[in-house]
Amino acid sequence: MGTIETQVAVVGAGPAGLTLATLLHQRGVACVVIDKFRRDQLVARSRAGFLERRTARLLDHLGRSKRLHAEGLPHTACEFRCDGEVVRLDYADLCGGIPSFVYPQHELVADLLDGYVSDGGAVLLGRPVVGLGTERALPVVRCADGTVVRAEVVVEAAGQYGPVRAALPADAFTQYDVRHGVRLLGVLAQTPPFAPHTVYGQHRDGFAGQMLRSAEVTRLYLEVPPGESLEDWPEARIWRELDARLALPPGALRRGPVLERSLVEMRTWVVEPMHLGRVALVGDAAHIVPPSGGKGMNLAMADAADLAAALGRHFCEDSAGDLGEVLAAYSRRRLADVWQVQEFSHFMLHLQHGPLPGAPDAGYLEKLRRARLFRLRDDPAYARAFLERYMGPELPPGL
Ligand SMILES: Cc1cc2nc3c(=O)[nH]c(=O)nc-3n(C[C@H](O)[C@H](O)[C@H](O)COP(=O)(O)OP(=O)(O)OC[C@H]3O[C@@H](n4cnc5c(N)ncnc54)[C@H](O)[C@@H]3O)c2cc1C
Repeated sequence: MGTIETQVAVVGAGPAGLTLATLLHQRGVACVVIDKFRRDQLVARSRAGFLERRTARLLDHLGRSKRLHAEGLPHTACEFRCDGEVVRLDYADLCGGIPSFVYPQHELVADLLDGYVSDGGAVLLGRPVVGLGTERALPVVRCADGTVVRAEVVVEAAGQYGPVRAALPADAFTQYDVRHGVRLLGVLAQTPPFAPHTVYGQHRDGFAGQMLRSAEVTRLYLEVPPGESLEDWPEARIWRELDARLALPPGALRRGPVLERSLVEMRTWVVEPMHLGRVALVGDAAHIVPPSGGKGMNLAMADAADLAAALGRHFCEDSAGDLGEVLAAYSRRRLADVWQVQEFSHFMLHLQHGPLPGAPDAGYLEKLRRARLFRLRDDPAYARAFLERYMGPELPPGL
């Protein structure tokens, strides 16, 4: 308990919050990271796994990529399957020596958190933030245990339902919230991948896919019909449907213990602007992309890198400058990237999922989906442009 004074209070110790705090701390800007979870809970949240090349470069820059390079899997190909057709896109030669990686999000969070703490970074774990206030014209963050953190800037990195934006006037923001009507059963299984790359399979019963996580653990997805719940998906049905929808020969996908099962709704959400007064939003606190493109964590860390550079310049070189304009410029730059990634994720969503059953133009939309898929197979320039976006942009200079 008590009051802590700092320059930047970061609410949320996920990939976005920890990237921001690490960069600020390395730059000499005082910051405190607060999370409702303890360390053991933070490093047990298995979610993303696909790291764009800019994210790998960012971890190199932070000095936090030792385990990524030792244990991560370079990711250089993806494959679409549709009615016996296989469209495989190999982008090893496009990478220019900087591949994308597969590395589980919870390992990345552990690397960032442990590195930040061992460098002397300030962190308050197991402390839910319950409110935002103002004292002497500065924002203050209030924790459930009575701790107060007074800062010059508060950054919400606490996901869509974080406590900071919730305390701000709703009419200060425009929200775009779209439900795509598709739900996926996400399964984390202790089984080796059946192919050494990502596989997206389209079948008349719905999507099925494989995303790599490690040599022993694989994330598998199945599109779930409307109205069904986790109880409708016992393990035997999961394996049977994966084999059928991905046209796998018997034994190709080894049955292993299911470590986790969850239902994920495909949705898009963006809040504009990504700041108000002395508060900035980063990562899932400002935008959610459907996981079809594997972009959410990459986008979250790109926000953090941009904001850290801007705040570093402000606090270390130009503290007389207008902080409001610094945050407004951050929001403008990031929203341009956010909407590019939303557009790509929307494209991927509709490439992977056929039209909803009963949709009025279902036959026509399905023909368009296949036309795009076969153009990826037949037109190298189109495939190259697609893969450039799949791998994500280069890390911008000026970190
Ligand atoms: C099944 C699944 C698969 C995915 N696959 C990919 C992928 O392959 N590639 C990719 O790039 N992205 C993927 N994503 C998206 C990715 O996981 C998120 O975009 C990413 O976690 C966002 O990071 P963040 O730091 O913004 O938020 P989070 O990781 O959600 O971190 C927010 C933190 O805030 C804390 N917090 C929340 N409320 C409070 C409070 N009141 N007080 C204090 N702390 C609080 C939470 O405990 C948490 O630690 C996937 C997501 C899911 C669900």
